[in-house]
Amino acid sequence: MPTTQRMSHEPRRVLLLGGTIEGRRLAGALSEMADVDVTTSLAGRVSDPAKLPGPVRVGGFGGVNGLMAHLLADKIDAVIDATHPFAAEMTHNAAKACSVLGVPLVRVDRPAWTQRPADRWHEVDTVAEAAATADRLGSRLFVTTGRQEASAFAEVRAYCLLRSVEPPEPPLPANHEILLDKGPFAVAEELALLKAKAIDVIVTKNSGGGATIAKIWAARELGLPVVIVRRPPLPEGLTCVPDPEGAIEWVHELIAAAPGA
Ligand code: NAP
Repeated sequence: MPTTQRMSHEPRRVLLLGGTIEGRRLAGALSEMADVDVTTSLAGRVSDPAKLPGPVRVGGFGGVNGLMAHLLADKIDAVIDATHPFAAEMTHNAAKACSVLGVPLVRVDRPAWTQRPADRWHEVDTVAEAAATADRLGSRLFVTTGRQEASAFAEVRAYCLLRSVEPPEPPLPANHEILLDKGPFAVAEELALLKAKAIDVIVTKNSGGGATIAKIWAARELGLPVVIVRRPPLPEGLTCVPDPEGAIEWVHELIAAAPGA
């Protein structure tokens, strides 16, 4: 591996960029591998994160240069990017830093949700566009795009039910309610919520995965429109796997291919 020449008996040092369910599963699986020394990195957005298996570091690296310095100082042999599909800055920084230093990188890219014939999707490119579109379509919005971008809804006329893990950041819409909650959500729960709040439009990012898909199924069942933000593009040429199992296989292959293995 490129950063340092390692003996075959030394554990490979892996930096795992987390903040997702996939990151949590990988931290568990990799910390049980004798030939891997894994540290999870979290941005530090959640005030009280659930305890992860293995060592954890918290906070930004300081852009591409900061990340390169970290990879060198910690003698990192490989990076797994298991950040959220909308954490585009981190993903681009990791791609750039790893490419400059020649550190192997894999991206865990969970498949996006796809539209079915019964769905009434309105696909947009930004949360701001989602707010404007939803405000045209309805008067009672269920907004699940996350607390960091809740201010994109500040000017909407409609009532907004804002659901996020942490309190949304102001400015917020004039007519809103906040619901602090964390997936996974069940479809029966989502149906009950949508009916109780008389929601007529759902707004979401196309996060993919199973934990928050129930609102898409509930919208389908109730015939409600969904305003859905498309994913930001990935850096060109990035090696991607769809799930944690793919990333573990990639680590095994890397170890098997390393000099002295
Ligand atoms: P982002 O916009 O791509 O990242 C902004 C900056 O935050 C990065 O440049 C980096 O700072 C720091 N950062 C992000 N992820 C990091 C990590 N895992 N470890 C260390 N630093 C990290 O990311 P974001 O959308 O704010 O998401 C932040 C975290 O929340 C991510 O770990 C992501 O997996 C998780 N998350 C995001 C969403 C979402 O909708 N965006 C949803 C669920 C979970 P420096 O430039 O200083 O290195």
